[in-house]
Amino acid sequence: MGTTGSPALVLNADFRPLSYYPLSLCSWQDSVKAVFLDRVSVIESYDKKVHSPSMSFKLPSVVALKDYIMPQRQPAFTRFNVFLRDNFSCQYCLQKFSANELTFDHLTPRCMNGKTTWENVVSACTSCNLKKGRRLLQQTGMKLLKKPARPNSILLQNNGRNFPPNFLHDSWRDYLYWDTELES
Ligand SMILES: [Zn+2]
Repeated sequence: MGTTGSPALVLNADFRPLSYYPLSLCSWQDSVKAVFLDRVSVIESYDKKVHSPSMSFKLPSVVALKDYIMPQRQPAFTRFNVFLRDNFSCQYCLQKFSANELTFDHLTPRCMNGKTTWENVVSACTSCNLKKGRRLLQQTGMKLLKKPARPNSILLQNNGRNFPPNFLHDSWRDYLYWDTELES
């Protein structure tokens, strides 16, 4: 049975993800090792098992650290964090979307030398993004929810708590593929 696609989500001792930026994941080998070293508790498991000659063990899907670790101060500038800052809602029509339905809009379009930065990038749904196109906001009659800014980690943690407990658990696997650092 393949175990390669079975990383564990790592929660801090307060049961929040250790980090959202990027989402804290570790390989199944590391999570099993941490369980045996008594550094983490297993919160949830996959159905997959690993076997040794003397025992079998369900692979952890969610583990929590036994000792609390202080969160990072400076969130990385990633797709996930931009969406989390914006509460996974389009900043123009204010509707919530899933991660794969959201896009980025550059307030000052790239063709006008707009940068890919916290201050110039907002989450937008596909239709609002198309509607705005390569124009400045003033040229469109569209409204922006709020001026984008660099978030601190407390804001991201608080936003993360607004989601149902299984939101991250159900969807975090996707972030492995797209939570890469954006250019800055
Ligand atoms: Zn929209």
